[in-house]
Amino acid sequence: MCAACGMMYARGNDEDEKVHRAYHKSYLEGVPFKGWREETVVMRSEGGDRIILASGENSCIRNSKVQEVIKVVEKELGFGEGQLLHKLCKVYLFVSGGRIAGCLVAEPIKAAHEVIPSSASENRSNLPDNKTESAQAKHTLEFGKISFKREVLRRHNHPDKSKEECQGPGAIVCEEEAVPALCGFRAIWVVPSRRRKGIASQLVDAARKSFCEGGTLGISQCAFTPPTSEGKELASTYCKTSAFLVYRDGDV
Ligand SMILES: [Zn+2]
Repeated sequence: MCAACGMMYARGNDEDEKVHRAYHKSYLEGVPFKGWREETVVMRSEGGDRIILASGENSCIRNSKVQEVIKVVEKELGFGEGQLLHKLCKVYLFVSGGRIAGCLVAEPIKAAHEVIPSSASENRSNLPDNKTESAQAKHTLEFGKISFKREVLRRHNHPDKSKEECQGPGAIVCEEEAVPALCGFRAIWVVPSRRRKGIASQLVDAARKSFCEGGTLGISQCAFTPPTSEGKELASTYCKTSAFLVYRDGDV
């Protein structure tokens, strides 16, 4: 198995190696993409990069390129095969240098929960004051526990993730009371070679701009799924607060 892209293949078998080389490059740099004749372009940058929308409405969502990207995202974020997309999803693709370098899947939601910052911004096991932590945990853990369990279950389906990773990111504690929200970011993925260059933020901008016909959505109308530690960082940086909104399946 390739440690970088996670693909299983028979070393020495020409055909297998060829398939692996192609997948490996797609995984690290993005799925090759020549463009569509009719594209719904949501944003275009000066450097020639663009974000395009694939949805059920413009029927691009069934395109094989979209499916190829979605497969990678499902694998990486721990969704089962075919579990990531549903009818109401909108898929935003970041196209750069002839490849799809990033992908955001948004879905309509009705409600979300605010993350309680002290628990979101720190790794709970590293908290110096144990007393504070347990007191806080008693007060708020019920919701946290639920999402924690689900996260762990989902992650356990992923053979490549270590046990440590299974348990770390679930520890997110939120207000039990829901607030109204409109757009949920179901999945956000950027290829490894292009991370930390603001692509994820641009995808979030694009989704906010075009998800609803009525105009650009405020940050407080959008929510993230209980994120991994990387996702947590993105969410809090983007929202400029660690009290960002998260949602569960029940809020959809
Ligand atoms: Zn590989």
